[in-house]
Amino acid sequence: MIADRYRIEPGTAVNLSRWDPADHTLAPEGKEAARKISKKLNRRLAELQQLLYAQGRHKILMVLQAMDTGGKDGAIGKVFRGVNPQGVKVTGFKKPTTRELAHDYLWRVHAHTPGMGEIAVFNRSHYEDVLVVRVHNLVPAELWSRRYDQINGFERTLAEEGTTILKFYLHISKEEQKRRLQARIDEPDKNWKFARGDLAERALWDDYMEAFEAVLSRTSTVHAPWYVVPADAKWYRDLVILDVLTGTLERLQMRYPEPEDRIGEIIVE
Ligand code: AMP
Ligand code: MG
Repeated sequence: MIADRYRIEPGTAVNLSRWDPADHTLAPEGKEAARKISKKLNRRLAELQQLLYAQGRHKILMVLQAMDTGGKDGAIGKVFRGVNPQGVKVTGFKKPTTRELAHDYLWRVHAHTPGMGEIAVFNRSHYEDVLVVRVHNLVPAELWSRRYDQINGFERTLAEEGTTILKFYLHISKEEQKRRLQARIDEPDKNWKFARGDLAERALWDDYMEAFEAVLSRTSTVHAPWYVVPADAKWYRDLVILDVLTGTLERLQMRYPEPEDRIGEIIVE
């Protein structure tokens, strides 16, 4: 896998200012060449997903987190293009409802984890409960500060029960976010994506970076690793995610289930 270098080894103290959001060293030939590789990986992903579904023995959980405009929606659309929607379940986690807030923060999340043969994609996740919640002090510090260990425990449970977990932080620069937010204002077909509140969040950029560093430093584990994906260039972002995802599925060495006994002798009348 080319993208192993973006995996955070457990116990590493991550300093995001040392991770270049515009890095594309693994695709030295640039955009067009990378897009060709992505296309192939995408076709392979479609095959692997069919195998996963047919075999029904593995569960895949993919978590996506990023700053606003980081490209979570775009990446989901690109990575899963042409993949059978039956086996892929995407869940977006918004501001919790009153009913959700009445429960513990993992309650709404657990319900959407993958079943056998499924790929579940989380567009935002339980990590919001140590990101936006931490930055805005939505719960007292003694509550959110315990959540890193709780999350590790939760993910370990999922992993021990047979779920393969992959977590992607799409890393964009503050300048790239400025460009993308401005485009949401300037281009009418993107206006719907813009909310004034996004500017208030942008003003808290440094606090968010600190919160992401804590997440990456404390919750990258052997059973649920984080990948820091350079995401200023969309084509590189997609390539890295596709590489990690297909590489992980290949390693499961899946096989189609055994056919019915002596299937070759059966004739359909
Ligand atoms: P979007 O992804 O643009 O639709 O925005 C979803 C919003 O929901 C973001 O502003 C998130 O920060 C917010 N959100 C998601 N999960 C939580 C949470 N657990 N607590 C508070 N806000 C959240
Ligand atoms: Mg938004």
